[in-house]
Amino acid sequence: MNKFLGFQCSLCGREYSPQEITYTCPKDGGNLDVILDFATIRKNFRPEDILTSAEPSLWRYLPLLPVFDPGGIGTPLRAAGWTPIYSPEALAKTLGLEYLWVKDESRNPTASFKDRASAVVVGRAREIGAEIVVTASTGNAGAALAGMSAAVGQKAIIFAPKTAPPAKVAQLLVYGAQVLLVDGTYDEAFDLTIQAAEVRLLTKSLRPLPEKFHGLTDTEQKYAFGPVHHVKRA
Ligand SMILES: [Zn+2]
Repeated sequence: MNKFLGFQCSLCGREYSPQEITYTCPKDGGNLDVILDFATIRKNFRPEDILTSAEPSLWRYLPLLPVFDPGGIGTPLRAAGWTPIYSPEALAKTLGLEYLWVKDESRNPTASFKDRASAVVVGRAREIGAEIVVTASTGNAGAALAGMSAAVGQKAIIFAPKTAPPAKVAQLLVYGAQVLLVDGTYDEAFDLTIQAAEVRLLTKSLRPLPEKFHGLTDTEQKYAFGPVHHVKRA
């Protein structure tokens, strides 16, 4: 059973099959939305399947996610999402609100809501046999991808601007991700992730490097938990 039909560019609207594309729209670099196969989903699942699920995480919505079996049972990968919602009466009164709900996203395994998307990415990466997942981040998104990857032994590489907060970089390293600090902005770090993935720069080691990366040094800055590679834009 196929739960999704492909991807649609969020900018130009062009549609792609799952086999046709991996990262972003080749035409304009737009992010891709998943096109769910609602007809097939409707045929195979009922709303009760979600409502009665014993899964205490985002995976209770598995019928509606582009992943078939995320694996990682008993790990933090299966603990992302489904965070508690509070209804603090005293605070509502103080703020003059009739209703107030507070969703405690700090209960996610890496303490941010970014764990949801990262858990889905890692689940999908495992299904397609991706050796490495890579992202650019200045903070919580990188930590989430590193954390969800660590949960199931998926190798993760995070490009971060060198101005990223040291505490965030430390969190990436605690999770065992390889960190590449980029001498540039977040946008430049993002561009590098796409280029690096496309030339398979990261499949085996950081060397030898294609010429356009020859500003990439193998200088290591020792943090408490491991090496950080610095990347300079050529
Ligand atoms: Zn597009």
